[in-house]
Amino acid sequence: MLNIVLFGPPGAGKGTQAIKLKEAYNLVHLSTGDLLRAEIKEETTLGMEAQAYMNKGELVPDEVVIGMIESQLNSNKSANGFIFDGFPRTTEQAEALDQLLSTHETAITKMLSLEVDDEELVARIVQRGKDSGREDDKNESVIFNRIITYNKKTSPLKVYYDEQSKYHIIDGVGSMEEVFDRLQKVING
Ligand code: ADP
Repeated sequence: MLNIVLFGPPGAGKGTQAIKLKEAYNLVHLSTGDLLRAEIKEETTLGMEAQAYMNKGELVPDEVVIGMIESQLNSNKSANGFIFDGFPRTTEQAEALDQLLSTHETAITKMLSLEVDDEELVARIVQRGKDSGREDDKNESVIFNRIITYNKKTSPLKVYYDEQSKYHIIDGVGSMEEVFDRLQKVING
């Protein structure tokens, strides 16, 4: 199986690249952000609880997102592999993912970290807020809080994957195709 963690701050382009990678390698795309937004749309209890965190730019509790990933892994047993987009975001999530994958007799192949500077990130998210209508993309203090949360809680996962020799840095600035080419080179290499 090919299991990729697509990593990077909010606005780095994970979602866009994940869709292209899913097509190119025939993978199941698991975005915890998309899964949470689907729960909100359906007005489930889980969705309503998650929304309060998301609207503030804070992380949804680990057990909630881990549970969602667990059920997705169970319902996609014949997959060629997975692309994890926006997950894991904490050390606890990364450890849980390794454990879940090992019960399915597989593991993360590579972690690809899209690097984009903060100024460019904010500009991209503000633009996305105009196009997509996502609430958390419309408020500047929520955008900043997401970037701060990334730097504090998520960025340390680079060390976690580096210790497993799975951490790869990808320049996330350039055209969609340029970034995609860089990702493919590392996956194929
Ligand atoms: P972005 O990468 O632009 O922040 P996402 O769709 O990945 O967009 O995430 C939106 C929000 O959903 C996050 O700010 C957070 O509140 C919540 N979320 C998504 N994935 C996770 C996760 N793995 N752990 C905790 N919260 C998450």
